Amino acid sequence: MTTIAANDAFQITLWRAEFADPAMEQAYQKHMQEETARFLRVSLCIWAVLEVLFGLPDWTILGASEGFYVLSSFRIGHAILLLWLSWQLSKKPHWASLGWPVTIVAILGYPLYFIYPLYVPESGALGFAIILLLLLSMYVFIPNRVMLINLIALVGILAVVSAQMLQGANWLSVAVTIMFLLWPAVLGYAAAIRINTGSRRAYVLWQQSEQANQRLEVEIARGKELEAELQRQALTDPLTGLSNRRHYEMLFKREHERCRRHGSVMTLGMIDLDHFKRINDNYGHDVGDQVLKFVAEVMQRPLRHSDILGRFGGEEFILILPDTSLQQAEAIAERMRQALEDDGLIQGDALIKVTATFGLTQVRADDPELQDSVRRADEALYQGKRSGRNKVTLAEAA
Ligand code: GH3
Ligand code: MG
Ligand code: MG
Repeated sequence: MTTIAANDAFQITLWRAEFADPAMEQAYQKHMQEETARFLRVSLCIWAVLEVLFGLPDWTILGASEGFYVLSSFRIGHAILLLWLSWQLSKKPHWASLGWPVTIVAILGYPLYFIYPLYVPESGALGFAIILLLLLSMYVFIPNRVMLINLIALVGILAVVSAQMLQGANWLSVAVTIMFLLWPAVLGYAAAIRINTGSRRAYVLWQQSEQANQRLEVEIARGKELEAELQRQALTDPLTGLSNRRHYEMLFKREHERCRRHGSVMTLGMIDLDHFKRINDNYGHDVGDQVLKFVAEVMQRPLRHSDILGRFGGEEFILILPDTSLQQAEAIAERMRQALEDDGLIQGDALIKVTATFGLTQVRADDPELQDSVRRADEALYQGKRSGRNKVTLAEAA
């Protein structure tokens, strides 16, 4: 089959101006259905009005004769059919893309032109003009499959020619009639092919841009996910999921600044697990890692959203409590210590218990660096270690 157009899925057949791929054609028809139905409904109404209006020349020629009444009943009957189809299309828009309803209704209009010359033999030119107009407008205004309109046109031409022959016209005038009728049919057909092809090409472009947009959206979403994941990885400790040094240093700076601006206090804590070496020695390094994960999870339980728990390194943790006095921090640390003491990690038959020692210090407004507070908290922590472990010690008391 000869085809116009770009790639395989979007091929448009030359003679029918439809997508070669039936699924694609169906999708196009469905996409256009509402617009096609609306356009067709308006066309049918205009057709019905014209059909009745053309009764006026009949009246001027025939007057109140039998011929006028017969022709008028055909006109009105067909106009009613056209209006009925237009009304049906409002409820069944899929009829517009089916094609056959409009084909049948259009063909049912032909008997009028078939019998017209019987009553008005001298009106040849006028009847002819109407038929030419009708053929042309059907191609342009019926937004349907062109092959069906070709069929309507063929039936129309045959009807006119048969009527002429019935009247005993000679071959030459029949040939002239065919020529005159073929002219608008060919012209209309070419116009319909152009319209249908153009509309399908526009649909292809629209679909391609839709697909490109969708791909882009997926890419953007994937990019965002990746970025978020990279950021998460860059800021968290892979074993415990707690803030890593980079993250807690950044948060410390931010919170320190904010607390200074608002004149509120902030407390920093250092936490070191007690006799952690023994856990490694008794259960192995991998279990030691599981314990570190478990400890991180347990110690986070009493914390608020704004509190920051980071992994300082090894089995040492850092605690940053913004807007928290030393006394309030002591209560929080005590809850963390207690939670750890009360809980335990089950490993096979064993219940692994672990405790921690906490050293706390208030962050001073004039502490320029995190390290200054860390040093004081560390001193308190080792004081705690020396005096028996599993306790919370305040730097001021050190
Ligand atoms: P103390 O109560 O005095 O703190 O005793 P401790 O055994 O905890 O002593 P210390 O803090 O000096 O020892 C820390 C041990 O923690 C040494 C090392 O084997 C272990 N450790 C450090 N980092 C990791 C880790 O990432 N995974 C595991 N499994 N063990 C670690
Ligand atoms: Mg240690
Ligand atoms: Mg330790």
